[in-house]
Amino acid sequence: MLNKLKNIFNDKKIVVRFAPSPTGLLHLGNYRTAVFAYLYARKNGGKFILRIEDTDRERSKKEYEENIIESLKWLNIDYDNFYRQSENLTSHTKHLKKLIEEGKAFISKEEAKDGSGIMRELVRFKNPNKDVIFNDIIRGEIKTNTTDLGDFVIAKSITEPLFHLAVVVDDYEEGVTHILRGEDHIPNTPRQILIQEALGFPHPTYAHLPLVLSEDRTKLSKRKGALPVTAYRDIGYLPEALINFMAFIGWNPGGEKEIFSKEELVKIFDLSDIQKGGAIFNEEKLKWMNKEHLKKESKDKQFSNIKKFLSEYDDGIIKRAQDTIIERISYYGEIDLIKENEFEFLIKRPKITGDKLVWKTSNKEKTIANLIGVLDVLSKTSLESIDSIKNNLMPYAEKNGKGDVLWPLRFALSGQDKSMDPFTICYILQSVEAKERIENAIKLLNQTTM
Ligand code: GLU
Repeated sequence: MLNKLKNIFNDKKIVVRFAPSPTGLLHLGNYRTAVFAYLYARKNGGKFILRIEDTDRERSKKEYEENIIESLKWLNIDYDNFYRQSENLTSHTKHLKKLIEEGKAFISKEEAKDGSGIMRELVRFKNPNKDVIFNDIIRGEIKTNTTDLGDFVIAKSITEPLFHLAVVVDDYEEGVTHILRGEDHIPNTPRQILIQEALGFPHPTYAHLPLVLSEDRTKLSKRKGALPVTAYRDIGYLPEALINFMAFIGWNPGGEKEIFSKEELVKIFDLSDIQKGGAIFNEEKLKWMNKEHLKKESKDKQFSNIKKFLSEYDDGIIKRAQDTIIERISYYGEIDLIKENEFEFLIKRPKITGDKLVWKTSNKEKTIANLIGVLDVLSKTSLESIDSIKNNLMPYAEKNGKGDVLWPLRFALSGQDKSMDPFTICYILQSVEAKERIENAIKLLNQTTM
């Protein structure tokens, strides 16, 4: 009895698959399908399957398959079953034979299209030439008269099934109940439905997702900025941000909130909120979302992520600079782009010139006096926080002129026309280093004739 109940329950279980072809590196637009399928499966307590569609032996490459597995793992998109389409060949052949025996498909001897004159045998599906109607969750009723499709090819030979046959057999055998895929597959669906009918298989439910477009509304491509998932990983994007971003390409739960964890997305995901029109890949939005997720990371995680891009930096410096670094980046790899200009002075004494130390309305003598004054204040200040440094230095700067005090101080410490504020730099460098840089500046000024 219990087993029977279990079976009834299992029969009802939703099974969704992601079925990529390993013929190239997939970009974010492709993985968006995986995210939707995954969220839908998990939301409904169903199963999520990964099926590598490698029937095209010439174009399929192991390295692309490995990249898909690695990407899903990094994204934390877990699957309950893994299949490789090429490993189901026996069953594909069995079903092809059945179709032929029942007169629903036939072997056709044809001349190869390459002009070589070679005759080859193809397996064609005997098209019943009828209207096929299916109800797409996103697009509603779709009706196609299949006559124009002719007797389409379903295998290159009895042991070389093509896409449509393999998909139909695999979906059936793997118990797939819901097919979520890009809307570029809509024209394939009537063919696959005809094959399902010929084999006596039930029809899965379809949801064809709006295509992901680049900002100029053309098809998204790698050239248009959509990188493979592993490339985003390597430049320090966060997996939870990418999932959040991909979920929002063509879907929106409504309301103001846009930052969600994977678990939250699973709870609120609903296919009925998917838009029909093309969905735009907006890189600025990706950066913004990543920054929001990055700010939510624990201090320890932030530290280890920053360290990957500032490996030559002392841990103490990174820890003290951490909040300032986080403010300045939207993904960790951005550190590489800005570190030379914005952070390098933290570990390398800057080259400074005397004339630049003097604020535009000030003079050499005043600047020297102010820097000596700053040294005095700092010697009595705890450098344990930016606030404590600021609270102690600010009254002195206000009394002696903010520009006259803070400009030479900041320049003495950073050697940069623009940089983080001098309180933050003092905090990051701490007293010995900060003091020496200020003393050097005073020495330099004394030697400069102006
Ligand atoms: N293998 C197909 C692709 O990568 C997807 C097939 C399907 O989802 O039905 O485009």
